[in-house]
Order: sequence, then structure tokens, then C-alpha cells
Amino acid sequence: MIEFQSVSKKYSADALALNDVSFSIAKGELVYLAGPSGAGKSTLLKMIAAVERPTSGRVVVNGQDIGKLKKAGVPFLRRNLGVIFQQQRLLNDRHILGNVMLPLIVTGAAKGEAEQRARAALDKVGLLDRAKAMPLELSGGEQQRVAIARAIVNRPQIILADEPTANLDRAAADRVIDALHAFHSAGVTCLISSHDEQILDAAARVIRLEHGQLVEATV
Ligand code: ADP
Ligand code: ADP
Repeated sequence: MIEFQSVSKKYSADALALNDVSFSIAKGELVYLAGPSGAGKSTLLKMIAAVERPTSGRVVVNGQDIGKLKKAGVPFLRRNLGVIFQQQRLLNDRHILGNVMLPLIVTGAAKGEAEQRARAALDKVGLLDRAKAMPLELSGGEQQRVAIARAIVNRPQIILADEPTANLDRAAADRVIDALHAFHSAGVTCLISSHDEQILDAAARVIRLEHGQLVEATV
């Protein structure tokens, strides 16, 4: 479902963010992407979403070669991805429900249907009772779970979560991870990055990056 073949990414002549990285992730897997800050984790996730393109090598997602993907194909690719990226904050001018409905509204869903599905998604992350709260009224962990609800409301086949537990205490982090695991149990392929070794599930597969290189992976 996700395949990296000798992928390197250079942002500039002296900024090699990924260096000859190869691995593949099958449909339905849950994989942690580990490694210290600056190791290349965000870069790797951005390439799966075609936010960045490989400098060399091949990235294939759902059979599509990201390096060859035309601009018009990007929305189709992203329709199958639920992304939780750090820079994608909730919109503070509308309530939680409105935030989660947004991906459905922009793809043309009717308002009633969008609301019903957004409520179902909020229920899955345990926040249905906060549907009419504003984002800034929620804790950091709750906001992160809203971001997960927003990411899955379109029923993506793949979830990409970039440091979803950053800045959360242990209990809040565990609830965020539990929410992601629940979607994995429902059949969704999950790739979760973290520099925090404590959240890594002993039972799960780990892909580890250091200085842009893969140091450990069960390929
Ligand atoms: P991580 O997510 O593991 O912290 P990143 O993928 O964000 O790692 O960064 C990997 C390396 O690439 C770092 O050295 C970072 O400074 C560099 N980098 C990331 N984004 C850019 C960019 N847009 N331009 C130049 N260098 C970048
Ligand atoms: P509904 O059929 O009303 O959408 P569900 O209980 O089936 O209710 O799902 C609730 C929400 O959880 C949905 O909006 C959907 O986005 C998300 N969801 C449920 N199952 C999956 C799945 N297998 N893959 C992706 N998203 C899912």
C-alpha cells in the first residue's frame, strides 16, 4: 500500500533529509515511525501525501508513483489519506462539529449527511459530548482527538499522524494512541511518527530513522 524504494530527499545541497530509504507497508498494518527530532520523519510522511517529492528513488502509494503524480491527481491521492500534521490546526472560529464536518463539506457532501458522519466520527474518539464546544475550550489532547476525527471522517484507507502525542501528558497521549488503534482495528492502515520511545507499542512494527537513514525496520 505504501512503498519507498531507495528514496532520498535533499532540500538543498547540504540538507539531506532522507538518505536511501526503502521499506513497504501492507494494507491494514499499524507502523510506528521512530527517531529523534530532525531524523526525517515529517519529510517521509509529507512524501506519502505528495506535499514533498523525492529527489531520487520512488514513493508508491496505492499503486501511484508520487514522483510522477500530476497536480490534478493530488486531491484524488489525498482522498484516501487521513492526515494529522502538526501545522494543521483546528479552525478556532467554529465549533468542534464544524471543524470535523469541513472535509465533507469541501468534497460536496450535503450538510445533513456531513453532520451525521461528523457526529459518528466524534463519537469514535470519545468527544461527541463536546460537539458544540469551541476548539480553544478543549485540552491539547482533546484537540488532537478532534484532529483525528477530522482526518477519518472521509473514511480514508490510510492514516498518517505526525507526532500526534507531542506536548501531551501520558494519559492524554494514551487516549490519542487508543483512538488511532481503534481505527487500525477497523481496517485502516496507520503510520504514526514519534520521537517519544514511551509511546511505541512493543507489539507493533517500528521503522526507525536517524539522520535520514533507516536504522531498523522489519521490511
Ligand atoms: P523530523 O520530523 O524527524 O523532526 P524533518 O523531516 O522535519 O525531521 O527534518 C529532517 C531534516 O530536514 C532536518 O535537518 C530539517 O532541518 C530538514 N528540513 C525539513 N524541512 C525542510 C525544508 N523545508 N527546507 C530545508 N530543510 C528542511
Ligand atoms: P457512519 O456510517 O454514520 O459514518 P460509522 O460508525 O460507520 O458511522 O463510522 C463513524 C465514523 O468513523 C465515520 O464517519 C467514518 O469516517 C469513521 N470510520 C469508521 N470506520 C472507518 C474505517 N474503516 N475507515 C475509515 N473511517 C472509518
